[in-house]
Amino acid sequence: MTMKGRTPPRSQRDACAEAKARLAAHLSRAGLKHSHPREAVVDAFLTTAGHVSVEELTAIVRRRSPAVGHTTVYRAMKLLADCGLAAAHDFGNGRTRYERTLEKSHHDHLVCTGCGAILEFEDQGIEKLQEDAARRHGFEIASHKLELYGRCADCVAAGRSRASVGSRA
Ligand SMILES: [Zn+2]
Ligand SMILES: [Zn+2]
Repeated sequence: MTMKGRTPPRSQRDACAEAKARLAAHLSRAGLKHSHPREAVVDAFLTTAGHVSVEELTAIVRRRSPAVGHTTVYRAMKLLADCGLAAAHDFGNGRTRYERTLEKSHHDHLVCTGCGAILEFEDQGIEKLQEDAARRHGFEIASHKLELYGRCADCVAAGRSRASVGSRA
């Protein structure tokens, strides 16, 4: 999310190893012990692309570890967000969705209110306009989120308008 120091995309395996090292350091600083259920959540999250809700991630984790509960997933995702390994988004419907941060560069989102699709884009022109606007106000940007709401190309083609948001990542 930061404006400066954009890193190039890394291979997922490198990103996964780095994420685990960072999480381990964070856990030891926080005095938290290793936990297998949490490890299962971390593994599932670091290998899941897109923007997942706690509910969706719980379903994914349970395919391999049926005993893992919703609360464990919820807490693990908070931890991952706290140490900067997951970005939390609320795409307008009050349900937090998380995406991996390490192997991805900064991007913004197009959110379809017809089918819930979440598309990503990056536009250097828009980035620059935001930096210019901040500069004019003497404002120092720490991070930004840009979300455009509307209908995706599929929904426009199908003539769908507002329906259930959040059904698809
Ligand atoms: Zn759509
Ligand atoms: Zn995204």
